[in-house]
Parts: sequence; C-alpha cells; structure tokens
Amino acid sequence: MIKSTATELLPHVQVWTNCLITLQELLPQSSYNTWMTPIVPVGLDGKTLILQVPSMFFRDHIEENFLSQLGTALFKELGEDADLAYSVIVDQSIKGVNLKSQKNQKPAFNPFENRSQFGDYGGNLNLDYNFETFVQADCNKLAYAAGVKISEKPGTAGFNPLMVYGGVGLGKTHLVQAIGNQIRANYPEKRVVYVTTEQFISQFVEALRDDLAGQFMNFYMNIDVLIIDDIQFLTGKTQTQEQFFNIFNRLHQNNKQIIMTSDCAPKDLKGMHERLTTRFKWGLTADLQAPGFETRLAILKKKIEADGYEIEPEILEYLASTVDTNVRELIGVLISIMARNVMMERIDLDMVKQVIANVVMDVDEEINIGSITRMVSEYYMIPEEALKATSRKRDIVIPRQVAMYLSREFTHSSLKMIGDFFGGKDHTTVMHAVNNIKNQLANDVDLKQAIATLQKRLENR
Ligand code: ADP
Ligand code: MG
Repeated sequence: MIKSTATELLPHVQVWTNCLITLQELLPQSSYNTWMTPIVPVGLDGKTLILQVPSMFFRDHIEENFLSQLGTALFKELGEDADLAYSVIVDQSIKGVNLKSQKNQKPAFNPFENRSQFGDYGGNLNLDYNFETFVQADCNKLAYAAGVKISEKPGTAGFNPLMVYGGVGLGKTHLVQAIGNQIRANYPEKRVVYVTTEQFISQFVEALRDDLAGQFMNFYMNIDVLIIDDIQFLTGKTQTQEQFFNIFNRLHQNNKQIIMTSDCAPKDLKGMHERLTTRFKWGLTADLQAPGFETRLAILKKKIEADGYEIEPEILEYLASTVDTNVRELIGVLISIMARNVMMERIDLDMVKQVIANVVMDVDEEINIGSITRMVSEYYMIPEEALKATSRKRDIVIPRQVAMYLSREFTHSSLKMIGDFFGGKDHTTVMHAVNNIKNQLANDVDLKQAIATLQKRLENR
C-alpha cells in the first residue's frame, strides 16, 4: 500500500520511507543507523524495489543479517509478491534476491527434524507433565489459573505473553508443558512448539551456519503456540535475541500464544535488551513460590500414586518435612527410595535418612568413582553391580557409560583406573564410552536431562 502524501514523493521513495518506519521498529538502533540509513531507493520496477547500496560487502551484509526484516517491511508495503534488487555503487549492475524463498506459508524446514522423537511440532512435549500430575496450591495459584485459561483460549485469553518465573525445581517446566499438552488436547490442529532456550539458540546457530536462517525464522513465525523454557539463557546472546524479538512480534501481532519461563523476574534479567523485557511484561507475569509442607506432601502422594507405589504415611511426612529445598530434590529423593526398594531394600526411616543424606545434604562426601556410580545407580534405578558387570543391554550400557563419563569429568582418575573400577574393563572401552556420551548429548534429550541433573548434584556438593 502506497500512502500518498501532500508532498507527493516518488513511489519508490515513498515505499522505502514506509519500510524504514517498520525497520526502525524491527532493528536495534545501531544496526538501523549503520545499515539502513545509507541505503538510497532508486526505483520501483513493478513490485521490485531497487535499492542503491555503497558496496558489494554492504549488500552481502544486509542480505545475511537483515533479509527477514527487510522482507517483513517490504511485504507490508507492496504485498507478498514483492522483491528486492540492489544497485551497487561500485558495480552498477543490479542483482536480484529471491525473497519468495523466505516466505513459504507452510515451513518445509523444521529445526527439530533431526531428532526422531520430535517428528511433529508438539513431539517435544513430555506427556507426563500435565495438569493432572501437577499439584495446584497457593504457591502456584496465579500461574496455574492463567495456564488453564490459556489452554482454553490460546492467544486470546488475555495473558499474552505468559511469563512464569521462579527458582530452580519449583515446577516451571512442568506447568508450561502441561499448558502445551492441554492446548494440543483441546486443539489438535494447532502447532504447539516447546523449546528450551538452549535448543533455540543452537538451532539458530546451526541454521546460520547452514545458510538456513530465513527458514528458521519462517518456522517459528508460523506456529500457533511458542513455549520457550529458561529464557534467562538468552541474556548476552544479542544475535539470537534479535531473532527472538522478531518472532515474538510476529506471533504476538497475530494473536499467537507465547509462554516463557525464567529463573528470575523480567526486571532482573541482566543482559537482555530492554525492548524484550518490556514486551515480557505486556501479558501476565506470575511467579512460582516454594511449596509449604502440605503441598510437598500432596506432591509426593501424587507422584507415588502415578507410579503405582505405596509408601507409609509416616515416611512420606518425614520426607515432606525434611526436604524443603525444592520440588525437584524432593522428587529426586523419592525416586531414589523407590529405586532402592526395587533393589529389595526395605523402606524404613533409616534407609530414608540415608538416601536424604546422599541426595540432598551430602556436601562433604568426596566425589570419586564410587560416589558417582552410586548416584548414577540411584538415578537410573539400576544396581551398582550391574553397572560394573558386562551386560550389553542398552538400558545398562548407557547408564554405565554415563557413570564413566562423569567419572572422567569430575575426578582426576585415569582411563585405566575407571576401567578397573567398572569390573576391569580396558581403557579403550572407557574412552569409547566417554566419546559416545559426548556425541549422543546433542540429540538425545533424555540423556541430556540425565547428565544435567547428575552434574548439578555433583556441582552442589
Ligand atoms: P523447574 O522447571 O522450575 O526447574 P520442574 O518443572 O522441572 O522445575 O519441576 C521439578 C520436578 O518437580 C518435576 O519432576 C516436576 O514434575 C515436579 N513438580 C514441581 N512442582 C510440582 C507440582 N506443583 N506438582 C507436581 N509436581 C511438581
Ligand atoms: Mg525447568
């Protein structure tokens, strides 16, 4: 749409002037000043806007960095079949670019596609994280209520974006995935994407490397619900923030739901561009508090019920009153108790105290291959003996390799010492194990989660 003004600018000048208004919004001030203001519009050939740029380098730079923003601005003015061409001052030939490849309606590119379990948009959601398994209480009242509303009317419930923040292990991931799962149940046709901020960053970096940044943007701009977890990891990542800013704007303008989590309040996100943190506050910001005793007990009960377990009430009460750090620790202890029980140990107070000491309070115990193996054994519910034996079954091999990997990372033991500990295995076996875990980490979410949890426990010692 070309707006005519009293001064009757030439059409190409008018188009570009209007584009600049959009671009000023989409680009950081410094990029705008450096890269947009030197551009001179020189002609309009049908729907192709011809821009004069100072050099080839300049042209390449804006194409590599700002093509999607230029596209957004241009499409707004001239419609979706608009195109751009450049006239380079040092080289007067005009080179066309193909913006059309940037705007396929249905994205052919899916940043999750290399990961078999994420075959479709919502495959990244963990079905165990739903509203039924989430205990509603005072500590999460507002976030929970908003979540339910959003799952009924995503994008139009009046909470857009929803920003859930709170300390580690308080249920942020569980809650936002529950919202995602419920939206999928209510609206099977909606494209719901759950992504951790770390995944988002690495997808973007990979897309840049493979020259697919436009398609990456296209994918995220065409979804219905974006759930992005642990947004605090975006601090300091200027380039990814810029892309996220554009995605956020597009989704928000189109009434698509955005849900974010953070480990702190938006105002405390240092190293995050202000125009982003301002937007984070447009919708609803709700925090998760640490649960009190009653809620901790309810969470334990729900968890053992879900797993078809029975544990005596006194034991549960002891647990709920003793482990008050966060829900993740509480559940960690419960899982270890169940694991020991699977290994034929009786659940009594002594055993429970011992587990608590191991998982939560063991700040002094030395980290060595033995303590690492015990931790891995508890995490995977596999007896230590099995980790040291020779079984080639995958559910044993991976935990064994995890234990070897962590031993290598967290102790000064040599490959030979580690091999000896695990039943006299060759040092090359240990080396292979360590490499295998490193390689699998990039595309195996369960493994990544396991290593992250175990690493955190080790680091907290
Ligand atoms: P965060 O993302 O805030 O670090 P998570 O969502 O990963 O925390 O929660 C840690 C663990 O605690 C998960 O196993 C989760 O299911 C559980 N959990 C946390 N809050 C609740 C709750 N209110 N009801 C049931 N389980 C919860
Ligand atoms: Mg989380």
